[in-house]
Amino acid sequence: MSIVIIRQDDKIESWKKALQSHDATLEVYSYLEPHDKEKVEMALVWKHPIGSLKKYPNLVYLASMGAGVDFIFEDPSAPLALPITRVVDRQLAIDMSEHVLALILNYLKGLDSYKVNQTKKIWKPVPYKRIADVRVGILGLGVLGTQVAQDLAKVGFQVQGWAHSHKELQNIKSYAGNNELNPFLNGSDVLVCLLPLTEATTGILNQHLFAQLPKNAYLINVARGGHLVDQDLQDFIHKQHISGASLDVYHEEPLPKDHFFWNLDEVLMTPHHASVSDTNSVVPQIVENYKRMQAGLPLFHLVSKNKGY
Ligand code: NDP
Repeated sequence: MSIVIIRQDDKIESWKKALQSHDATLEVYSYLEPHDKEKVEMALVWKHPIGSLKKYPNLVYLASMGAGVDFIFEDPSAPLALPITRVVDRQLAIDMSEHVLALILNYLKGLDSYKVNQTKKIWKPVPYKRIADVRVGILGLGVLGTQVAQDLAKVGFQVQGWAHSHKELQNIKSYAGNNELNPFLNGSDVLVCLLPLTEATTGILNQHLFAQLPKNAYLINVARGGHLVDQDLQDFIHKQHISGASLDVYHEEPLPKDHFFWNLDEVLMTPHHASVSDTNSVVPQIVENYKRMQAGLPLFHLVSKNKGY
């Protein structure tokens, strides 16, 4: 009985160490080292190479190392009949919330333009906006969206959220379903995308959605690159309907050097680093689920195959 870690960056060893420090009895392998594939029951995955899961004939459980699972559904050979879990972690939600707050304040106070002016030795005050005057709309009121919404409301923003189903959250106006999308967008000066990437949400950040936002709205996409139609964002920035955007995620990562986002002054780019699973915080829930799987108990944080998140 063993666990295999499959991801294509340099974090396999630190995950392996964290798992074994938490429980020295665990047998954990990198998919790149020699190991008996028939003995592997659980695959711990993050953007695994397409097809790599096929090599494990006796898998009984797939665990995403992050909150998102879109990359699993994108692999046509992934064993989707198995239980799939994802990370639900308070620290991950707090990190996301801090990132979004920083981006919104940066935008309201025009800090980016000061850095540009500083390099040119230009002394030029720019108008700023106040928190109390800004309506923030969050697309997706799940684990991360709810944390972001509640923290923004606490510091004084007017906050509303849109999800599949209605939510009862203090000081947050709730909208749900396609019928309520436009009224939600009409009142969002800053729009934050925290939806999972599914068939229903792919390309949702497009010209039709942008047209419903108030003039000069600001976009923050910290969910997935596949939510955004890149060209539509550029068009709406050029026609000054959208004043700018902060992007953390892209169709292709790293973003190709010839992509137009690199040269768009109104776009602030971060390299998919808004909120990252912290092994100290996340490993206990992964080990707990592994043991529950071995004991035949129901798993925590299961993904719905029908919904795709
Ligand atoms: P959750 O599954 O907890 O929440 C998803 C939310 O989106 C829910 O409120 C859900 O509605 C809503 N939703 C899903 N589909 C639709 C739809 N078609 N129409 C309306 N609402 C919909 O996810 P998390 O909050 O944990 O994570 C969200 C995403 O954030 C992840 O999938 C990942 O892509 C991204 N992420 C990005 C990171 C980064 O560093 N940039 C880090 C971590 C995550 P309902 O509640 O009604 O089901």
